[in-house]
Amino acid sequence: MIAAQDQATVRTTERASKPTPVAPERTIRRTVRDDGICLLTFDRPGSSANVFDLRTLAELAEELDFLERQPQLRGLVLTSAKRSIFIAGADLKAMQQGASLDQVRELIGYGQAVMNRIAALPFPTVAAIHGAALGGGYEICLACDWRVASLDRATKIGLPETQIGLLPAWGGSTRLPRLIGLPKALDMILAGKTLAAKPALKLGLVDELAPVEYLVEAAVKKIQRGKPHRPSHWLFNNKLAAAFIARRARKQVLHKTRGNYPAVLEALEVVTRGVSQPTLVSLTLERDGILKLVQGEACHNLIRVFFLQERAKKLTLPAVARGADPKPISRTAVIGAGVMGAGIAQWLSARGLPVILRDLNAEQVGKGMASIARLYQDGAKRHLFTPVEARDGLDRVSPAPTEVPLTHLDLVIEAAVETLDLKKKIFARLGELAGEETILATNTSALSVSEIAAATRRPERVVGLHFFNPVHRMQLVEIVAAPQTAPDVLARALRFTQQIGKLPVVVKDSPGFLVNRILMPYLIEAGNLFECGAGIVDLDETMLDFGMPMGPLRLLDEVGLDVALHVAETLAAKFGDRLKIPESLVAMTKAGLLGRKSGAGFYVHGKSKEAQPHPLVSKFVRGQSMRALSRLELQERMTLLMVNEAARCLEEQIISEPADVDFAMIMGTGFAPFRGGPLRYADSLGAAKVVAAMEFLVDNGATHFAPCALLKSLAANGKGFYHGKGG
Ligand code: NAD
Repeated sequence: MIAAQDQATVRTTERASKPTPVAPERTIRRTVRDDGICLLTFDRPGSSANVFDLRTLAELAEELDFLERQPQLRGLVLTSAKRSIFIAGADLKAMQQGASLDQVRELIGYGQAVMNRIAALPFPTVAAIHGAALGGGYEICLACDWRVASLDRATKIGLPETQIGLLPAWGGSTRLPRLIGLPKALDMILAGKTLAAKPALKLGLVDELAPVEYLVEAAVKKIQRGKPHRPSHWLFNNKLAAAFIARRARKQVLHKTRGNYPAVLEALEVVTRGVSQPTLVSLTLERDGILKLVQGEACHNLIRVFFLQERAKKLTLPAVARGADPKPISRTAVIGAGVMGAGIAQWLSARGLPVILRDLNAEQVGKGMASIARLYQDGAKRHLFTPVEARDGLDRVSPAPTEVPLTHLDLVIEAAVETLDLKKKIFARLGELAGEETILATNTSALSVSEIAAATRRPERVVGLHFFNPVHRMQLVEIVAAPQTAPDVLARALRFTQQIGKLPVVVKDSPGFLVNRILMPYLIEAGNLFECGAGIVDLDETMLDFGMPMGPLRLLDEVGLDVALHVAETLAAKFGDRLKIPESLVAMTKAGLLGRKSGAGFYVHGKSKEAQPHPLVSKFVRGQSMRALSRLELQERMTLLMVNEAARCLEEQIISEPADVDFAMIMGTGFAPFRGGPLRYADSLGAAKVVAAMEFLVDNGATHFAPCALLKSLAANGKGFYHGKGG
């Protein structure tokens, strides 16, 4: 087969610029130009992305067989035919739990061998990067002599492996520090950073930027310069300096991750030990390191989260699966220009959608427009938009201080204040103003979508679209189906969420929906424990140790005590004793201690980044009404309540799959991703242990810990949420 291909290519070379006839299944297309430069174009059939699996590696190896026999070639350019992806990385299926160690070893060994062969080619090699070059997709670029990247928003470059519990093991941990020096490489690899084209150039990840239309020509110019002479970075990349840098970095990593992410420590070890060794030794360290990591639970859970994100991007509802593809949304309005309304309007306009922004009066609309302008400015600073894109985005938002026609719109999203009566009034009016087909969505945090829908003349057009704060950072959107919501409205809302690049989870209408319902008992328990004498720092630190991105009291301060109290009251009205609102929370709210927005809550929020616990809030403690609990006991109480409520959501079919609960909690609250979500965490403990711990607390008077029926039944039958057997 290879020989036949070689013959075909020789003929192609003679005829110049015509590509080789490509077998339909092949990913790599080879073209040899008249000037003796070979182009390998990655174009995975039937997919919008290129990924590296064993088959693509095998194809690349075949191409290398050819290239190694063509010393007369002047150079090689690697490029992609996809619109927004160069190569998205290695196919992670091979790394999932269940894959044998031998399979992983084969994939790593094969990948390293192919990259080494590219690095050893006798002529200059250039990666012409347009779109995402991530993980293995950037490691192949590192094996080239030069890297040029397109000046396009789609271009993203990095080694994000540590974020999925792995480390760059196709030469990335070895070649990046040799290219840009140890400190900068560590910064990229340990944080799993992904950079846009301009910062990537600044850091040295690429050598040059070019408009996408001239990318290949820019690559060809690099070939004309021959093989590069790079600095050796001897100052940092020697054994002594590396050991010093490693010690300092280890301290920082442990402070940041609390030892919860083994991949970061392993990557640190591999990079700092490998940098002063010969390349082949360093590659062996990479391989041994990744083989260790793929056997760990943290890696399995993080890869699962990755696949859940991919699943959410492609999620369909039965009506859609049957071929009734919902129409994309093109004209929108947002009602309410506050924190959420402005955030949503900015996000939609940045995705090319025209948005009417409506609020009570010109002043409120003006404030909203100013917030949107700020979001665009910040985005431009972070290279998310060019200044022109930012200006065009802002231009797509039309301020509406008075009532405007809405009949022509596809979607109206209401994000006014959280009061049922007000929302009912707004929806009654929207029912009159909007067109027959317009979808009417509410961004309510916890109110009944069904009650809101009942206030309008077309309740079947109403759906919940619950965005999270801040909108530009939080990827999750809960799509809330009221009993009245028509299936086509639900399907279109789902498609819309994907259209704007958010990750959907579809939930039934119920107080607090899914995420706030599970989060709130945890926050309220933190408030109760504080009221009973537990320390602010103890409560927050123990949950940071658990892996939450922020402690619960700090989170209450960020959300605003008044807002949290309002949501808690809505839930307490339904769940009664199970959610006892601490008096301290009410008293602090009354005293104006609302958290960050009022300058103080559980913490004093000054200008410095580090908020200090508020010295005066101890007056809201009702006294040491229970024995002092250890940090682990505090942690156990707060996490058990989340597990119990998550199980209840499943039991009440607010959502049907345990994986959706875990996914939503990780994406909506940052629930320790390496633990895989509250239900996966419960499985890791075993349902019997969870139930025993809860019943112990109930026996000691904490009746709100009573385990739900589903948990008890799993415990009694030795099962888990995910598998026949728990644990
Ligand atoms: P906000 O107080 O910042 O903004 C509310 C806006 O609604 C204000 O600008 C107000 O003038 C406007 N408004 C009041 N009555 C109106 C009317 N009749 N017509 C048009 N506009 C009107 O509130 P927010 O934090 O943006 O919350 C908005 C909604 O989003 C609420 O339902 C809230 O529960 C929900 N939500 C909030 C968050 C959050 O963290 N802030 C997160 C998710 C969902």
